[in-house]
Amino acid sequence: MQLQLYNSLTRKTEVFVPIDPEQRVVTFYSCGPTVYDFAHIGNFRAFLNADVLRRTLESIGYSVNQVMNITDVGHMTDDDVADGGGEDKMEVASTRLAEAKKSGTLPKETDVDPTDPLAVAEYYASAFIDDSKALGMKIVSDVEENQDLMPRPTQYISHMIEMVRLLIEKEHAYVAQDGAVYFDVQSFPAYGRLSGNTMEKLRSGEGGRVDMETQKIKRNPADFMLWKPDPNHLMRWESPWGEGYPGWHIECSSMATVLLGDVVDIHSGGEDNIFPHHECEIAQSCCATGRDSFANYWFHTRFLLVDGGKMSKSKGNFYTLRDLVSKGATPAAIRLELIRTHYRSNANFTFQGLKDSQRQIDRWRRLATWLCTHTDVKVNETPLQDALERFITSMCDDLNIAGAIGILSEAVGLYSIDCNPDEGDGPSTFGDELKALHDMDAILGVIELEDEVCIKNLDVSKIESLIEARLDARTNKEWARADELRDELCALGIEIKDGPEGTSWSRVVQ
Ligand code: AMP
Ligand code: ZN
Repeated sequence: MQLQLYNSLTRKTEVFVPIDPEQRVVTFYSCGPTVYDFAHIGNFRAFLNADVLRRTLESIGYSVNQVMNITDVGHMTDDDVADGGGEDKMEVASTRLAEAKKSGTLPKETDVDPTDPLAVAEYYASAFIDDSKALGMKIVSDVEENQDLMPRPTQYISHMIEMVRLLIEKEHAYVAQDGAVYFDVQSFPAYGRLSGNTMEKLRSGEGGRVDMETQKIKRNPADFMLWKPDPNHLMRWESPWGEGYPGWHIECSSMATVLLGDVVDIHSGGEDNIFPHHECEIAQSCCATGRDSFANYWFHTRFLLVDGGKMSKSKGNFYTLRDLVSKGATPAAIRLELIRTHYRSNANFTFQGLKDSQRQIDRWRRLATWLCTHTDVKVNETPLQDALERFITSMCDDLNIAGAIGILSEAVGLYSIDCNPDEGDGPSTFGDELKALHDMDAILGVIELEDEVCIKNLDVSKIESLIEARLDARTNKEWARADELRDELCALGIEIKDGPEGTSWSRVVQ
């Protein structure tokens, strides 16, 4: 089967053909998070859609070599203008954590040293990896085998310096009066092709806010920073242009080249990465390698909205996986909620949507359990096997996931399993049906997502200390206090039962 995939570069849906069609190996670079905070579910919408694309490729026989960077330096608060202005996001995180520590609002278990930005980065990186695992992102199991697949820019500085040096040598970059190295966009006529930004638009500063001082020293206002000497930057390295730090864009160009080669098959990100980040990546990479392509297919996910606006950290209107799990949502339902709208449309996050997703998964899981425990006496049809090919065909139509879910749900509906799924009537004779369900879930990744992860993501020590405090209150006959603590547990999505063996707790789905 062939995958039809929309390519943001050509603005067309194309048949996907990898660089090496014989090998059936796909190289896939996904722009990952900047680890200055917990990733929110908007970020995860972009990462999970990349995961769904990867799983679709795997289900039609490709092996996918995926790399996702974890940015730990050089992503500035004003990077939308491509000048490296503002503050380094990691330094902002260090300041925020230091203030929280001083005011006592930092949770006790956060023993990270806020004065060390790399420790802060690793703290959020490991939270990101835990969350990604809970959400069923396949790259996490690859990383358990090979850590290089989630590279940190701070480990690739010498490669970046080498790429900048090469760009200067080839006259695609220059050192300006302020000592910083800039990419000369006029030296690369294809600059603007991905985002549709013409030189005129860029010249008139349509990219966003501009720093007039920097604009004056650049050859062209659209030129972007590759290396910034700065003796005061918390994270800085020696370079031929003085002690300083790399531009955010050069990081991805460099890591992709080192880990996947000069040209990759697919490159993914959120829609805001198109400009300036990916536009700049193409310019740097093509000019450094001399190739006319950096990535053959560009895959961009539209934003997750909340109340009609972009979910973002700066607006404060975001939820993390942890927020939602503590309200009783399961990672499987969150995953389905984030992938079930087509990646090229905006998705709107609602709690009702989350509940619907959970209900959908429960129905699929009930059927899976029923199929495991029943002997086929009456049913001699094979709805799931019949659905499988149509399901994959739908996914191969530029990831038409709503169509695919419709096909699966229709097949599930053909079974009437009102009976208690736990009461089986003999050894399963539905092996082939189960295999078809499993193959569809190989793309969705929700039916078999372990429930333990829900427990893992809860703050178990907090739950246990609340239970203990409640037991103390009951022993002291402080009934109102005991009820208050029960309510607090309830708000965390925890139900408690008092029995002869003591108090037990379980998670409830709200
Ligand atoms: P950041 O950690 O800010 O670098 O963002 C990580 C990724 O999340 C980028 O690919 C962004 O494009 C993406 N992203 C940020 N906000 C959203 C959103 N509301 N919906 C979808 N993707 C987003
Ligand atoms: Zn990137």
